[in-house]
Amino acid sequence: MKDVKRLLNTLESKILTYIHKKDYKQANIYLKKENSLIKFDKCANWLLSKLTLKPHVEKIMNKKHIYCIYDLLLTKPLRQEYYTQISSIVDATGYACVKGTVISKKFGNFYSITIDDGARLECKWFNRNNVLKHILKNIKVGSSVVCEGKISEFGLFKEMHHPKIKPLSSFKPHVDVVYPAFGNLKNTYIKKLVEQALSMSPKPPYDYLPVTAIARNKLPFLNEIFYALHKGKSLSDDLVWKRLKYDELFFMQLGLALEDQNKYESIKINADEDFLRTVQKNLPFELTVDQKKAIETILNDLETAQSSSILLQGDVGSGKTIVAFICALAVLKNNYQACFMLPTTNLALQTYSKAKAFFENYGFNVELLINTTKKKNDIFKAVEDFKVHCVIGTHALLNEKLVFKNLGFLVIDEQHRFGVDQRRIISDKGKSAYTLIMSATPIPRSLALAIYGKTKIFEMRSMPKNRKPVKTIHLTKSSEHKAFLHARQELINKHQVYVIFTLIEESQSKSEVDSLMGSFEEINQKYFSEFRCEFLHSKLSATQKDKIFHDFVKGNIDCLMSTTVVEVGIDNPNATVIIIEDADSYGLAQLHQLRGRVGRSDLDSYCYLITKDKISSLAKKRIDVLLSTNDGFEIAYQDLILRGSGEIYSTRQHGLPDLEFADILKDKELLEKAKSDIDELLKLNYPLNEGLLKMVEHKWQKKFSFARIV
Ligand code: ADP
Ligand code: MG
Repeated sequence: MKDVKRLLNTLESKILTYIHKKDYKQANIYLKKENSLIKFDKCANWLLSKLTLKPHVEKIMNKKHIYCIYDLLLTKPLRQEYYTQISSIVDATGYACVKGTVISKKFGNFYSITIDDGARLECKWFNRNNVLKHILKNIKVGSSVVCEGKISEFGLFKEMHHPKIKPLSSFKPHVDVVYPAFGNLKNTYIKKLVEQALSMSPKPPYDYLPVTAIARNKLPFLNEIFYALHKGKSLSDDLVWKRLKYDELFFMQLGLALEDQNKYESIKINADEDFLRTVQKNLPFELTVDQKKAIETILNDLETAQSSSILLQGDVGSGKTIVAFICALAVLKNNYQACFMLPTTNLALQTYSKAKAFFENYGFNVELLINTTKKKNDIFKAVEDFKVHCVIGTHALLNEKLVFKNLGFLVIDEQHRFGVDQRRIISDKGKSAYTLIMSATPIPRSLALAIYGKTKIFEMRSMPKNRKPVKTIHLTKSSEHKAFLHARQELINKHQVYVIFTLIEESQSKSEVDSLMGSFEEINQKYFSEFRCEFLHSKLSATQKDKIFHDFVKGNIDCLMSTTVVEVGIDNPNATVIIIEDADSYGLAQLHQLRGRVGRSDLDSYCYLITKDKISSLAKKRIDVLLSTNDGFEIAYQDLILRGSGEIYSTRQHGLPDLEFADILKDKELLEKAKSDIDELLKLNYPLNEGLLKMVEHKWQKKFSFARIV
């Protein structure tokens, strides 16, 4: 094996030299040589072969997502118990083996054997049964035994519970591997399965990763990993984890890269610049620098057809909608259709009314498609006949009867609210449409790269000129009247107010709604009696909710008391105060989104965060972050630090399956390494071996639908 490794390293350094000299042809020759040394396909076939198991065992294994040898060999043992040398009872800690003379035995409520090596140790078994009894009966007082197990200390006394006990003469140093529970299967059974698989595991240089990736990242071979995982430490943990993480990230990035290669060519348009300049001039406001840049970037993509999707990240209120409108207009002008998909009915309604005013001005027809839309079939027909140019809607757009004549521009707002399948369905309605994804919850660039592959990322950081930062004030419950009195004053000045109560989920019980109703009435009477207030909660019908939103935005309602249903995107520039009750029960991003409902004009705005006197230190930190900054990017970053990547950027939420070994944020460097390795391999026309592709498919079969390009 050493020889093979040496040979591979020589080849690898040749490859790197040629890549450095930009002589890709030579590099490729050596890559192929390297490739021929590794029996990728054989290796992958073996790893992916199904385990032959009895039906009931198979069921248990499948529940744990173990289907093939590879899955089994990647099952992390819970722990390894080292019984490699005998220690004295006095020194023994943790998992240990000790020897001693049996000095007493008891068979009562539990079985007990005490041994002595100068100090004493009591071994106890609480699971009484005849087999165990028989074994223990055979151990004679006065004989020398070895006990293996975990030491528990009770003051000066040491005990072992359920140890393995055997005659001293049959002790052999060994490491016990303990696997997580698999239904009612015994650990010894799992061990046997793993042993069997291991014994057949092909020796290096069998692998599925290109050697060049293994060599340049100094990764161990596959077989070495399996032995390290299941047989104790022949490799350092770091190396084992590095390889496991790298593989996972490599597969993910390869999947993305292959999917990108498989993308349809994007539409190509001629943007009428004079016209678009006039359009911008006719707006009631001047676009921010970043809005202009975003439009320029997207139009440039559309004109050159070099890129077919973009992720537009911008804080709440940064004005993403108008960017989408102007670009859509340029596309409509080229005889294509446009489609906007939004996560809630209210957002769809709001966007629809703005879009109608905007596009119809230029002679384009706009239609709304939500669940309650009447005469859907008429709309479907009009879209297919190209009588409708722009469709705005919710999930209702996913209806298979919606077929575009010529979809060229697709906008998905707050896309993390849609599932992967939903996004795919909508994308399939316009295979060469340019896709604009808009998000107000920024994610770090590295993460975005990992998740969106080739999708461009544009960050809009500048806010519209007239915006003043929202003043944020933290009050405890006992002084919340200050907030309400201030809100009252704003109402007198003809501004509007939001009051947010803790989340009412769809599942909320009637009594909880009643109690919230009580708070609503109380506040209403105490502070806002002469104003028009409405209470928006989940028990209202969709139509009732829509009406309330509409009336609030129109100014027919002064104070909107609500649960977090207003969280996303509701735009009422005349609202100047938001009071958030029980602010400590929300996440940082959510609070920031809520706060973003105010401060949407040049009026001074205020956000009151009301909490109990005593709140957890984490909740306090969240509130402190909000008090200290209004910058959504900074808040997203702080959120990340406070909550860790797993939760907030739940990869699943963004459409990726959970990673088992790697953490996209913590292992950022390795991720970038995997990405650049793949870019290079693809650039070099590296012959992607069938085995590798099979592994990618196995790992990400649900996520990617790339074509085989061998
Ligand atoms: P978001 O990025 O949160 O989706 P919107 O697109 O809903 O923000 O814009 C929020 C509000 O700001 C809207 O009322 C919009 O008309 C207004 N707006 C957008 N751009 C500007 C600008 N450059 N100057 C002033 N107001 C703007
Ligand atoms: Mg928006």
